[in-house]
Amino acid sequence: MQTVGDEAHPEIRAAVRALCAGFPPEYHRRVDAGRAYPEAFVEALTRAGWMAALIPEQYGGAGLGLAEASVIMEEINRSGGNSGACHGQMYNMTTLVRHGSEDQRRRYLPAIAAGELRLQSMGVTEPGAGTDTTRIRTTAIRRGDRWVINGQKVWISRIQHSDLMILLARTTPLDQVAKKSEGLSIFIVDLRDAIGRGLSVRPIANMVNHETNELFFDELEIPAENLIGEEGQGFRYILTGLNAERVLIAAECIGDGYWFIDKVSAYASERQVFGRPIGQNQGVQFPIAESFIEVEAANLMRWEACRLYDAGRPCGAQANMAKYLAAKASWEAANACIQFHGGFGFAAEYDVERKFRETRLYQVAPISTNLILAYVAEHVLGLPRSF
Ligand SMILES: Cc1cc2nc3c(=O)[nH]c(=O)nc-3n(C[C@H](O)[C@H](O)[C@H](O)COP(=O)(O)OP(=O)(O)OC[C@H]3O[C@@H](n4cnc5c(N)ncnc54)[C@H](O)[C@@H]3O)c2cc1C
Repeated sequence: MQTVGDEAHPEIRAAVRALCAGFPPEYHRRVDAGRAYPEAFVEALTRAGWMAALIPEQYGGAGLGLAEASVIMEEINRSGGNSGACHGQMYNMTTLVRHGSEDQRRRYLPAIAAGELRLQSMGVTEPGAGTDTTRIRTTAIRRGDRWVINGQKVWISRIQHSDLMILLARTTPLDQVAKKSEGLSIFIVDLRDAIGRGLSVRPIANMVNHETNELFFDELEIPAENLIGEEGQGFRYILTGLNAERVLIAAECIGDGYWFIDKVSAYASERQVFGRPIGQNQGVQFPIAESFIEVEAANLMRWEACRLYDAGRPCGAQANMAKYLAAKASWEAANACIQFHGGFGFAAEYDVERKFRETRLYQVAPISTNLILAYVAEHVLGLPRSF
């Protein structure tokens, strides 16, 4: 099946595809059934240098752009895997590379590139604030040469498989700032020092095999130099990572979409009912063809978002729209895939039900479809702000 982005970065695509071939669907199925972490897979990606794609060459990385990184994520999902186990390192890297000091870049990036450290976690969401990020209540207060952190986060992923986390906390109370997006700062938290010494972690059992947690901060102390960039500007910095995250997740959904379409097309061509392949019926063909058209269209917006991001240009609208279109298209493809597998779509050994659960997440996280619509209405179309 020829698709929109196939001709872009063919060497990367071929190399990641070859690596993924060593981890067939049975591997990912086993990991899912055991609620385990795909450690061997992430280790293989790290050893091959793919997890350091966005680290500049002078710090030991590959020095690639978001477009190339998105191909890596797409190929993982297209092979039947789930980039959710490791995509955090990709988008967190963009925050550290663009906004970290030279000292921070030297301290962390070479060790991450060498696979000695993992930067897989980003702590933004809180139970009390939800999507209204500026209302977060986790605080960081400067005391001498330390920041002292108190508060709570929820849904913070990959903490148990990461050494470092980028944390968003309020450093100036909301009632003392001119704009509510001011007074927030971001920090690097070394989880190896923090867990058990002011940070406690409670795993959340969830629908996908996604390692995600509640975090409780009680007088956690971190060194003053772990502040990233300027104090109070963290909301602006975190948007760099959030836009990268949206584009990468769009690429993952596109990978999922093609996986579902390949899988259901093959099945519908083989499965005989009423003496002919089910795929001969237009009632079966059309939803598959429609979801393919939608994945292809979403893919075009993904490349546009990558182009703007890599040029350092504003890309909030395109990153959000790519994520919206891709998550919707992969979900439609997932529905067609499970529907036309009939009962077998529900059998774990076909992998459809696993991928169906995995791709459903992206309607809600990292940003829900409603909030993307609100963003486009307000920031692109100039409609009155709704909240
Ligand atoms: C598996 C998983 C992993 C995650 N990993 C991370 C992570 O690593 N780091 C992190 O910081 N966060 C993480 N999240 C959190 C995720 O980003 C949030 O769940 C998501 O942004 C939605 O926020 P919420 O759950 O608080 O929903 P809420 O903000 O409570 O919203 C609930 C629903 O109401 C709708 N809604 C809310 N306000 C409006 C409005 N004004 N107009 C219309 N509709 C509205 C939303 O669309 C949504 O569907 C993860 C979540 C999950 C499920």
